[in-house]
Amino acid sequence: MGDKKELCKWKREDYARELTLLKRIVAEPRFVCEKCGRAADKKKRLCNPEKLEE
Ligand SMILES: [Zn+2]
Repeated sequence: MGDKKELCKWKREDYARELTLLKRIVAEPRFVCEKCGRAADKKKRLCNPEKLEE
C-alpha cells in the first residue's frame, strides 16, 4: 500500500507499519482534509483536500 492509499483510509495498524512514510507525509503539510481533519503533503493523499495557506 503506502503511497497508493489515501491517508484518510489508513487504519490504526497502517500507522505503525508505515511510520516512516507517515512522518514524511505530515512533516510539511500543504493540504488538509475537510472531512477527516488530516493533513498531508499531497492533494491525492486526502479524500476531500483543501489547500493550506502558505
Ligand atoms: Zn479525508
